[in-house]
Amino acid sequence: MRPNYSDKMVSDFLELGLSTEILNAVAELGFEKPTPVQATVIPKLLVEDRDIVCLAQTGTGKTAAFGLPALEYLDLENPATQVLVLCPTRELCRQISQDLGNYSKYRNGIRIVSVYGGAGIQGQIKELKNGAHIIVATPGRLLDLLKREAADISGISTLILDEADEMLNMGFKDELDAILEQAPEGRRSLLFSATLPKEVERIARSYMKDPEIVTVGQRNAGSENVEHFYYLIREEDRYAALKRIADYNPDIYAIVFCKTREETQKIADALQRDGYDADALHGDLSQAQRDHVMGRFKRKALHMLVATDVAARGIDVSNLSHVINYNLPQEIELYTHRSGRTGRADKNGVSIAIINQREKGKIRRIEDVIKKKFTRLPVPGAREICERQLSHLITEINNAEVRNDIYAFMPTINEMWGSLPKEELVKKMLSYEFNRFFDYYRKAKDLNIPEKEKKEKSKTEAAGGADRKGQQPSSGKKDRNTRDGNPGECEKGFVWLRLNLGYKNKVIPRDIISIMKACGIGKKSVGKIEIFNEFLYVAMKDSVADYARSQLNGATFDRRRLSASLLEK
Ligand code: ADP
Ligand code: MG
Repeated sequence: MRPNYSDKMVSDFLELGLSTEILNAVAELGFEKPTPVQATVIPKLLVEDRDIVCLAQTGTGKTAAFGLPALEYLDLENPATQVLVLCPTRELCRQISQDLGNYSKYRNGIRIVSVYGGAGIQGQIKELKNGAHIIVATPGRLLDLLKREAADISGISTLILDEADEMLNMGFKDELDAILEQAPEGRRSLLFSATLPKEVERIARSYMKDPEIVTVGQRNAGSENVEHFYYLIREEDRYAALKRIADYNPDIYAIVFCKTREETQKIADALQRDGYDADALHGDLSQAQRDHVMGRFKRKALHMLVATDVAARGIDVSNLSHVINYNLPQEIELYTHRSGRTGRADKNGVSIAIINQREKGKIRRIEDVIKKKFTRLPVPGAREICERQLSHLITEINNAEVRNDIYAFMPTINEMWGSLPKEELVKKMLSYEFNRFFDYYRKAKDLNIPEKEKKEKSKTEAAGGADRKGQQPSSGKKDRNTRDGNPGECEKGFVWLRLNLGYKNKVIPRDIISIMKACGIGKKSVGKIEIFNEFLYVAMKDSVADYARSQLNGATFDRRRLSASLLEK
């Protein structure tokens, strides 16, 4: 008998009760310890027999959570289909069957067949004829195959609905109902979803037997290790801002989300024209085109994949540097899905939104849902970008491997370059690479909302941030431009800390909270804030003031080195 781990969190794969073959395969994939979903769900699946509804965000490792136990149950003597996995897209179908294949690498003879629309049905029928212990399917195609009697789910013992919310979003309601009607009574059902909208609840109520609802992590919350930023721009500068972001991050490896197929194509075309390794992924492309684009993106031959939400479903690329919301999605929930594409498997992720003034309200609404704050970043300017690109290039040159092949050419090199002083040579080489960049950015304007609009903004931001008592900066015009103003009284038990940042640096109260947070100082220790043109005062709780000063000194904000001092009481 297996030990009962059901309500205990397990920190080691060895304790989960899986067989050696599966454990070996998992170890080879580099999974060191189970993710929380896996630690919760796997033991339940192995020792209990209740249906389960599992709510967990994307990127939490759900495939292995249902996949590993499903592989354990299989009776390989029996050729019938025993496990059915339904999921929303063909990419996801392939990803899941590939993952299951990897997990079961050391159990010979398991047949896993994936069937999905948009690909020839005859080949899939043939595959099914050869036997399928596990079918991974999109609902539409499976229904078609059931009608043609090419697939048979009458003997399944486990039914898995993966990304149930997304299947319903994509309009698979009728197909799901039809399939679930046909599934045999005695099966066990598992439903995975990032969210629990009414329709998903209905499916659970109608087709599952007294399911246990397991919520892992905060429902609806953005992935834990994703940071959220926004750039505030004028609508007409949206594309220019995207280019700046790409230029400022020379190692960018990102999905850029757009609202529509047309926009996706337009942005990808523009990026290509401007010399970026970018391409589009959307529903108007043929299967072959999509495979081609995905292949290039996975190989990192493409650095930016411009995609619609639907097309990006199921893309499993675990090392994205950024998710970029070229436009915010219509529905807030989609933002969670988008940002969940980065910050996977313990890596830190960055989700960026490019927004105009009118979209600021939407940022606040997203913050409420994901229970995390966005930080505003200034759109990088010409100087910052050129500096970043240069140091990137220099690092690349420093890291270049010097091979023996070069020695044969040294005489020629010496002849042509021998008399050139090192400094000249460096200047020439970097200019050769860089002049185009300098040319482009020489005329580059500041994309940030200018001071006039900005002042309006600072006021509203400050007012918006005034929900905590006494947080308003003294916003009188006099203070703003006073070069050497003194702060008023601060709260009891607090002391003024002076920082070398001011309106001139476009700093707003929210930035100060973020800076403090980055230094490990919580909101509760921060009191009034008074911003002057050249510097600002922030009231710090007595108990943390010294610590704050030492943490802030030498820290940076927007590439500026901070200097902090405490005011005598
Ligand atoms: P979800 O279905 O919840 O969105 P996936 O199952 O696709 O998440 O897993 C996301 C990524 O995390 C995949 O790249 C997967 O290989 C990786 N992963 C899953 N489990 C682990 C683990 N225990 N340790 C490390 N990486 C894992
Ligand atoms: Mg998944």
